[in-house]
Amino acid sequence: MNDSGLGDGTRCVRGGHPEPVSGAPMLPGPVFAAPYHLGGAEGSGDSYGRAGNPTWRALEAAIGDLDGGRCVLLPSGMAAISTVLRALLRRGDALVLPGDGYYATRQFVREELTELELDVREIATPGPWTDDVFAGARLVLLETPSNPGLDVCDIAELAERAHRAGALLAVDNTTATPLGQRPLELGADIVVASDTKALAGHSDLLMGHVSVRDPGLAERVERARTLSGAIPGPFETWLVHRSMGTLDLRLARQAENAAALVAALRDHPAVSGLRWPGAPDDPSHELARRQMRRWGGVFRFELADAAAVEEFVRRSELVVAATSFGGLHSTVDRRAQWGDPVPEGFVRFSAGCEDPDDLVADVLQALS
Ligand SMILES: *Cc1c(COP(=O)(O)O)cnc(C)c1O
Repeated sequence: MNDSGLGDGTRCVRGGHPEPVSGAPMLPGPVFAAPYHLGGAEGSGDSYGRAGNPTWRALEAAIGDLDGGRCVLLPSGMAAISTVLRALLRRGDALVLPGDGYYATRQFVREELTELELDVREIATPGPWTDDVFAGARLVLLETPSNPGLDVCDIAELAERAHRAGALLAVDNTTATPLGQRPLELGADIVVASDTKALAGHSDLLMGHVSVRDPGLAERVERARTLSGAIPGPFETWLVHRSMGTLDLRLARQAENAAALVAALRDHPAVSGLRWPGAPDDPSHELARRQMRRWGGVFRFELADAAAVEEFVRRSELVVAATSFGGLHSTVDRRAQWGDPVPEGFVRFSAGCEDPDDLVADVLQALS
């Protein structure tokens, strides 16, 4: 079913589900089979669960519809990122990476791709995006809004400059989700994402995906998945599909909560460095408004030091310390503990789906 033209909520609810057939289940469950019966016409149906199965295809159809491309599911965000990097990069290639983005991406390149002797150029999301960043590059990876700093860069402009230099442009779209931003429509070649975060949104599984416009590239990524053997489990895949039905609702509440908290913390004496692209006075707001479709629930700020963050979490009734983001429950993560290049008191706050009044009251009392 092609749901293009329908609204986000409708597409989240209907995406990837079969046409109604009398007597068939309204919602198909996960298919766990390893081998499938053979003997039909060549190329008809599935043969083996590592190469493809109906549970993946249903979720891939739903996410691909939202991304505006062909989606290939991978078992985590890092599996999506590492599969794309391994599939595209050759010895000596130049690779542009976000210097302030998800730390494991840089670590993967540094530790697992050493044999490729890449020319790695780490550029912070706000730039400077000088011409020599692109010169001779094979692949440019952006992360916008960046995790954890929530800075934003101009996907359309940077895609055009990457293409002029002969490079492919990929965007890590984890923070925005496909409802918040459609990089393929803005000129990107590749979307990579961790669906562990807001897309699945219940903090109970890991998943990732790659979406591309070029069917040839999709087939390459599928082939890499089949041959590497690192595949998503059908049960987790089905849970993500089930969870995606409420993505529109969850994001709306998370963004409402983030807006309320950012307003409450703006002039708080204990808080500095507050950033959320959805705030009208945020330095990224104008650019974010041009390329994003809606806001998410993740913002960041600084308290005095690590002890102040610990005290805040201890006093809060509703906010727990946990890494990851985008779930139903509000969480904070002190990023310096993971080695992000940020101050000791820097926290990434993931607003959950609690009531805004409860959350604001709790956060303010925990900071008092
Ligand atoms: C979490 C995250 C990843 C990695 O995803 P996993 O599902 O944990 O492997 C990649 N990029 C960004 C921006 C993330 O936040």
